[in-house]
Amino acid sequence: MYAVADNVYLLKGVPDYLVNVYLVGDVLIDASTRMAEQGLLRQLKGKRLSAHVLTHAHPDHQGASKAVCDAFHIPLRCGEHDAAAMESGDLSAQIPRNLVTRAIDVIWTGPAHPVERTLHEGNEVAGFTVLETPGHSPGHLAFWRESDRTLILGDVARNVSFVTLQTELGEPPTIFTHDIARNRASMRKLAALNPRTVLFGHGQPLRDGARFVDFAASLSA
Ligand SMILES: [Zn+2]
Repeated sequence: MYAVADNVYLLKGVPDYLVNVYLVGDVLIDASTRMAEQGLLRQLKGKRLSAHVLTHAHPDHQGASKAVCDAFHIPLRCGEHDAAAMESGDLSAQIPRNLVTRAIDVIWTGPAHPVERTLHEGNEVAGFTVLETPGHSPGHLAFWRESDRTLILGDVARNVSFVTLQTELGEPPTIFTHDIARNRASMRKLAALNPRTVLFGHGQPLRDGARFVDFAASLSA
């Protein structure tokens, strides 16, 4: 695990920083793909967790959610408009249907699991404030800590190229995004916070938050 901000750790992945899972205090944010299950459980062994929270119910974020919740006997929480998908295991309303997402569904999507409660704008998660940021998925959430201006934004933006695997700030891929215009509106909402550190669902931490602000401003509505 890598310390990426005060009380925020990024779990190791294969490769690192491609599909991110964060441990914030005793709350696990996201759970990668179903294939990552054993790697996550190994890294979390011996930790005391109180809850598992999702930025959104896509296969690369909820894949190992049930395994983590079962192993640690902790509740699962997510955005209101992603909860039904998580509980049914049918993510087809959260992500566009195309050849890529159908293929991914088979190998990455995790089993259904009950959502203990849904999270809403202004709720608190391990010292972070919940922000509703729909677009990439209908119930997408981000997490904001004003004291050190740290933003965990899930897939509202990415900081890696999925083609070259090099660091590259950009929008989430169109083929995985439920509503592109709404996601851009959510990105502008987050940029207005002027974050110092930005932590992504995919890619390395961005320490120069102004770059994210400039990027959001460069997109058309
Ligand atoms: Zn993702």
